[in-house]
Amino acid sequence: MPGAAVQITGLNKRYGDFVAVDDVSLSIEPGEFVTLLGLSGSGKTTTLMAVAGLTEPDSGAISIDGRDILSLPPEKRGLGVVFQNYALFPHLDVFDNIAFPLRMRKWADADIRKAVERVLQVVSLEQFSDRRISALSGGQQQRVALARALVFEPPVLLMDEPLGALDRSLRDQLQTEIKRIQREFGVTVIYVTHDQEEALALSDRIAVMANGKICQLGSPDEIYERPNTGFVAGFVGDSNRIAVSMGNPEDQFRRVSAPAAPELE
Ligand code: ADP
Repeated sequence: MPGAAVQITGLNKRYGDFVAVDDVSLSIEPGEFVTLLGLSGSGKTTTLMAVAGLTEPDSGAISIDGRDILSLPPEKRGLGVVFQNYALFPHLDVFDNIAFPLRMRKWADADIRKAVERVLQVVSLEQFSDRRISALSGGQQQRVALARALVFEPPVLLMDEPLGALDRSLRDQLQTEIKRIQREFGVTVIYVTHDQEEALALSDRIAVMANGKICQLGSPDEIYERPNTGFVAGFVGDSNRIAVSMGNPEDQFRRVSAPAAPELE
């Protein structure tokens, strides 16, 4: 199934008096890879959970291919979901973990076998079909989680820090695979990370978040070369010193001081 368009409009979510997501709007094209990038606590996961149906926003709208999904339960939203802790069943083998969403959907056994075998090939785990999850490495478990999210060919894939627990070389390797798989399936991806390198490597567009808001949305080049605030510049790294120093001096000051306590303009 080709990727779907995702539209988030005026999304708000509070926990008591605390505003976790503050009027977030984002329009994502079919097949696009969009990353929510920001420091811990900036509202990325809450935004993703609202799309997934795992938290109920206070207000706003979310649609997929023009169809409102907020009233649908998570399993009816047609989304593949990969979270950091994988949420695999450790006592089941690889095949049964990946087959799980298909059994929930009451697919016929022969169709399940075909779909699981295909996706095992995509993530290069054909040899591990009978292996229990607890006997796999972190990277292999991550591939199983990805395979399980992709097996029913969802139009939209949500990933929340899926590589967070892995070491750098494995992350680089899996990043490449995630990108390849996304292109192969044509799936629309909303990806959450605090890792700027990961965001720059993977994304068609990056939404930089701080204090529950999107403070800049653009291609990796735009974000990196023309950060629109001192906060974004500071967040995307020191090599932006030149770009920032050509702008407002106050911005430059903020670039140094802002990342620990992000402040929007
Ligand atoms: P991020 O993914 O960018 O780290 P989150 O969306 O997880 O940010 O959280 C945004 C803010 O909302 C954080 O300050 C967090 O502490 C708060 N928050 C998240 N979930 C809850 C909750 N269930 N109850 C209270 N506060 C929460």
